[in-house]
Amino acid sequence: MSFAELNLCQPLMQALAASGYDQPTEIQRQAIPAALSGQDVMASAQTGTGKTAAFVLPALQRLQTPAAVSGRGPRVLILTPTRELAQQIQEAIRRYARFTPLRAGVIVGGAPYPAQEQMLARPLDLLVATPGRLIDHMQRNRVDFSRMELLVLDEADRMLDMGFVDDVERIAAAAPASRQTLLFSATLEGGPARLASRMLKDPVRIQV
Ligand code: AMP
Repeated sequence: MSFAELNLCQPLMQALAASGYDQPTEIQRQAIPAALSGQDVMASAQTGTGKTAAFVLPALQRLQTPAAVSGRGPRVLILTPTRELAQQIQEAIRRYARFTPLRAGVIVGGAPYPAQEQMLARPLDLLVATPGRLIDHMQRNRVDFSRMELLVLDEADRMLDMGFVDDVERIAAAAPASRQTLLFSATLEGGPARLASRMLKDPVRIQV
């Protein structure tokens, strides 16, 4: 299978070519069509399998169509357990979105608040965040979730291990019920499965 069969738009195809990728990985092959169909997805994939692109590419593809709701808040929210992962996801977004005008921001703990507040006040297409700091901004009324169409839970098992379950649930509860949700986890058993049963609607299950 080639990337051309995934029906991605020209700016994304150009970015993939510039990255030197000629074929989607197994998780990308399975998760990208499912995500593009609008269904919720729960996928088990380890780091190193190409899972970041498996959610970033369909997110960017979705952002090619105009927002249904006007406003400035992010249309895509990606939650991830650590600062390092948030930065890696932001780099992937930069790489794949380089031929698009899309704007992405990062919210992580351990960084000063004022710059993050300024970023949240500007129009944003994608937001990558660790749960704790995002909750802080929500409590200060700095985040507008009214436009959110897609919620991605990256490394759900690690977010649960790190004690973020209540934060993740509160964030999801503040997002529009009509949103699509994608959950990625090294394992889908136990905690991640319970989280999925509370937050995903009739998900496609993918195991690679
Ligand atoms: P990840 O599992 O998302 O951390 O990705 C692991 C590595 O694979 C990253 O360095 C990506 O840039 C790279 N990668 C992602 N998709 C592909 C692909 N289709 N072909 C080759 N490399 C890829």
